[in-house]
Amino acid sequence: MLQFVKQAILIIWQLPQCVLAWLVLGFLWCIRSLHAIEPFHSAYAVDGGIKGGAFTLGPYVFGPAGTRSTGHDHLLVHEYGHTLQSLILGPFYLLLIGIPSVLSAGVLPRMHNYRWFEVWANRLSLEFGKDHLIGFEPAAFVEANVSSSYINPRNKGHNHSSNPVHVQYRWFDVLLMIPSCLLLYGMYLLALS
Ligand SMILES: [Zn+2]
Repeated sequence: MLQFVKQAILIIWQLPQCVLAWLVLGFLWCIRSLHAIEPFHSAYAVDGGIKGGAFTLGPYVFGPAGTRSTGHDHLLVHEYGHTLQSLILGPFYLLLIGIPSVLSAGVLPRMHNYRWFEVWANRLSLEFGKDHLIGFEPAAFVEANVSSSYINPRNKGHNHSSNPVHVQYRWFDVLLMIPSCLLLYGMYLLALS
């Protein structure tokens, strides 16, 4: 009973991103692209055949084809950091992380990994990995191409990509927040009317 109440509170706290996640799950199911949903600690690893990366809505990590619940997939581990951000920020997750992240990945893909919200996710993932993932190699998670035994079971790749833990602040970080500010202002005006 207590577990049910806790889960209900967590869903209500993260409701906007949970509703979006359920819509995406429904869409993937309709187009027969929903291949697996597996629990991964406090989240779910979803094999939705997503092309070009992954994204997180509430506790749901939507990953590429072959995504399974394993701490040996560094992409999943990084995305798990976003699920922790969602737990922390609740209804503010989409405004502070979701929208700026979509913009950054779309417009500035080469700089995306160094934005503050990505680095924060990496730091959360790193601490989580050290404490909870067996065989987790922190250095191989953070740095690309360091000497390690890491092999991603999904794509059989080594650590060819990094998960930086230091932000590179740039002037466009301010611009990335403008759509969220406008949306928030619009909601404020709507609430007043
Ligand atoms: Zn990310």
